[in-house]
Amino acid sequence: MQNTDLHSTYLLEEIRKEKLELSLMEVCGTHTMAIARSGLKELMPKGIRLISGPGCPVCVTAQADIDAVVALAREPLVILATFGDMMRVPGSESSLAQERSRGADIRVVYSPLDAVALARSNPGREVVFLGIGFETTAPAVAASIEMAATEDIKNYSVWSLNKLVPPALNVLFSDPELRVDGLICPGHVSTVIGISPYVELAARYKRPCVVTGFEPSDIIEGIYMILTQIKQGRSEAEIQYRRVVKPQGNVVAQKMIDRFFEPVTARWRGLGSIPASGLAIRKEYEAWDARVKFALPEFPERPTRGCSCGEILKGKITPLECPLFGRYCTPSTPIGPCMVSQEGACAAYYRYGRRVN
Ligand code: SF4
Repeated sequence: MQNTDLHSTYLLEEIRKEKLELSLMEVCGTHTMAIARSGLKELMPKGIRLISGPGCPVCVTAQADIDAVVALAREPLVILATFGDMMRVPGSESSLAQERSRGADIRVVYSPLDAVALARSNPGREVVFLGIGFETTAPAVAASIEMAATEDIKNYSVWSLNKLVPPALNVLFSDPELRVDGLICPGHVSTVIGISPYVELAARYKRPCVVTGFEPSDIIEGIYMILTQIKQGRSEAEIQYRRVVKPQGNVVAQKMIDRFFEPVTARWRGLGSIPASGLAIRKEYEAWDARVKFALPEFPERPTRGCSCGEILKGKITPLECPLFGRYCTPSTPIGPCMVSQEGACAAYYRYGRRVN
């Protein structure tokens, strides 16, 4: 047995001795998947609940925004370039996959730079990249705008639905109906933003925040660090994922985001409108802003009847409490985005954790 295994086994045994009653939220969808896959929920002592949060970018995209991109895909001459997870997310009346089967030109790409290449090779078309993601994805989207601006590619634009994680955490911590005793903070996002947003959160709401990696051994250690803080009466921001995350984050990536985007109010599924939680393209780069090029109307938020994704994203219920889970809503017949996305809590429970309560 390797040293890390021995260390994790020891920490897990210590965690399992705990008698405290606590709810710890994993913010990131990758954590949700890793926890479900490794069966960590089942290994927790009775009093410790691990709840999922709003860390899946596809899942938190508001229904109204899905409806807007479906409308965008119907625009003449448009090639809509998107990450694959968005294809099957149901809007109010249609999804991108349905629109593609009806003739819309929608391409799955692996990077925003692939979308710029599409624009370069299709000069008679308008290529729109769907910007979905958090602070981790935003620098690459910014780089695509920079490339298009440098090469003067005018038929490329971005429909930005990019979001910032800390404002959403603020909303969760200030919700009196939600009990979160500590945060397992997202490893990927924190490589960009560093630890300072969590320092503020931990101090304001008196809850420990630990930036944690994605291996089961990382998550066990992150949970152990949160419990240690609680038992010592501390509420601080700490980094478990030290091999990747630096306290200051990635300053180059932060500058890239700041140069091309500005914070705006954004709609989140389940959490509503949150000030300064979205990224809009700055006016200097509006030639590459699809919202300026295509003046679509505002779409109303029309939540899907019976789908509880909003409550799941707030950590108020688990997927098992949704009456549609596993009966009417499955990965092959998804009703909400949490069952579609690779990082969605419902998909994680369906794949790995249907027996976990
Ligand atoms: S199981 Fe399906 S319907 Fe229920 S919350 Fe999850 S995605 Fe929505």
